[in-house]
Amino acid sequence: MIVMKFGGTSVESAVAIERVAGIVKARAERHPIVVVSAMGKTTNKLLAIANAAIAGRREEYIRQIHDLRDFHSREARQVVPLAERADLDRTLDEHFQELTELVKGIAVIGELTPRSIDAISSYGERLSSYIVALAFNHFGLPAVHLDARKVIVTDKRHTHAGPLFAETYRRLEATVPPLAAEKVVVMGGFIGSTEEGVTSTLGRGGSDFTASIVGAGVNAEEIQIWTDVDGMLTADPTILPGGHRVKTISFAEAAELAYFGAKVLHPATVIPAVERNIPVMILNSRRPDVPGTRIVGAAVPCKNAVKSIACKRKITLVNINSSRMFMAHGFLRRIFEVFDRYETSVDMIATSEVSVSLTIDNTEHLTRICEELGEFSEVSTEPEQAIVCLVGENIRYTPGVASKVFHALESVNIRMISQGASLLNLSVVVAEKDLRIAVEALHSAFFAELDPEVFE
Ligand code: ASP
Ligand code: MG
Repeated sequence: MIVMKFGGTSVESAVAIERVAGIVKARAERHPIVVVSAMGKTTNKLLAIANAAIAGRREEYIRQIHDLRDFHSREARQVVPLAERADLDRTLDEHFQELTELVKGIAVIGELTPRSIDAISSYGERLSSYIVALAFNHFGLPAVHLDARKVIVTDKRHTHAGPLFAETYRRLEATVPPLAAEKVVVMGGFIGSTEEGVTSTLGRGGSDFTASIVGAGVNAEEIQIWTDVDGMLTADPTILPGGHRVKTISFAEAAELAYFGAKVLHPATVIPAVERNIPVMILNSRRPDVPGTRIVGAAVPCKNAVKSIACKRKITLVNINSSRMFMAHGFLRRIFEVFDRYETSVDMIATSEVSVSLTIDNTEHLTRICEELGEFSEVSTEPEQAIVCLVGENIRYTPGVASKVFHALESVNIRMISQGASLLNLSVVVAEKDLRIAVEALHSAFFAELDPEVFE
C-alpha cells in the first residue's frame, strides 16, 4: 500500500481531478490510499463564510455559500458519469443545506467557537473526497470513499486538534487494508473527530499530516505528497526562482525547512512517518515524471554543507533590555512567562547578560506583551523582519560556513544570528526589504557547485 496525498491545487478543477485520476491509475497496483485536500481555496472560503456570518453580513454569506456550491457542482459534473449525477446533486444539496443551517445558527448566536469553525471548515474535505471518489470510478478506477472522521480520532483542541494515535492506528489498521485490497480508498485530509464523534480538524495545511498518519497506521511502503512544485528546492521559489531540486533530504532537514515556512510540507507531517521509518516523497502533479524529493530517515552523504535556504517573512523582532537584571537570576523566566501567558510562541532568541532579542510571528497580543515586559525592562519592537535559514546536516561538520554567510551578506544588515540550537540550521534575521538580496547572495555562495548525488 502507498498513501498518495493531493493538495488543494491538485484537485481544484475537473481538469486537475482528471490529471490526478491518471496519476493514481498509473500506480494502482501499489494499492493507493488517496488523501485529498479541499478543492482549491475552499477552506479559506468556508472561513470567510463563517466570518461573514458572525459579523451579521447575511447577504454576503448567502452569496458565498451559493458560489461555493456552484463551483463544486460545476467542476464535479464534468468528472461524474451521467448515471451518478442525481446522486451527486443530492449529496451536494444535503451538504450545502447542512452548511447553510450551521452558518445561520452561528449568525443568530453571534459566536464562533473553535468547535463550530471545525464543523464549517470540514465541508471542504468532505466534499472533495466524495467528488474525487466518484470521479475515479468515472475514469475507470474503482474507488471507495472513506469518511476520514471515522478513522482519524483526535483530542478536543478544535482548529488544531492532535491525533490520538493509538486509537487512530487501531481504526486505520482495521478499516483501510481490507478496502485498499479491493479498490482505491479516497478520504479527506485535515478532518477527524473526537472520541465523542464531534468533527475536528488538525490545523491549516493538515492534509499532509493526515497522509502521514494514515501511512503510519497502515504501515504503507511509501507516502507520496503530490503538490505543485517539483519537490524541495534549494531556495524558496517565491523569493528566488530557479533553485535546484533536492533529490534526497533527511527527515530532520525536511522538518527544519517546514518549520521555517517552506510551503511544501506541514512540519508535523514527518513525525508519524519517521517513527515507522516510512519514506515520504514530494512530487509534482503537473509534472508527474519529475522524480521529486525523497525524504528519508538518515541523510545521504553530500558534498554541500547546505541543502536548502528557507525563509519566514512577517517576523517581528522584540528587543528586551533590563540593566536591573544585571547579575540577577530569573530574567529569562519572567520574559517567557509573559509570552506563555499570551500563548505566543517565540522562534529565535539571542541573549546577552541584560538583554534578549527574540522573534515572533504572531503579533496578536504584542501590545499587551510589551506592556507586561515593560514592567521590568525596556522593550522595543521592529516589524517587517524576515528569518533566513540555511538547513543542512553537514553545516555542523563543515568549517567556514559562518564566514561564508557573513561574506555573502556583507552589504546586508544582519539583525540577529543563531546557530547551534538545532545543529542543522544557521539562521539570520534581516529586514524584509533585504530578503531577496540576502537569499540571492547566500544561494550563489552555497550552491555554486552541486553534489550531483543530491541535487539536480
Ligand atoms: N484544506 C485545509 C487547508 O487549507 C487542509 C490542507 O489543505 O492541507 O488548510
Ligand atoms: Mg497544503
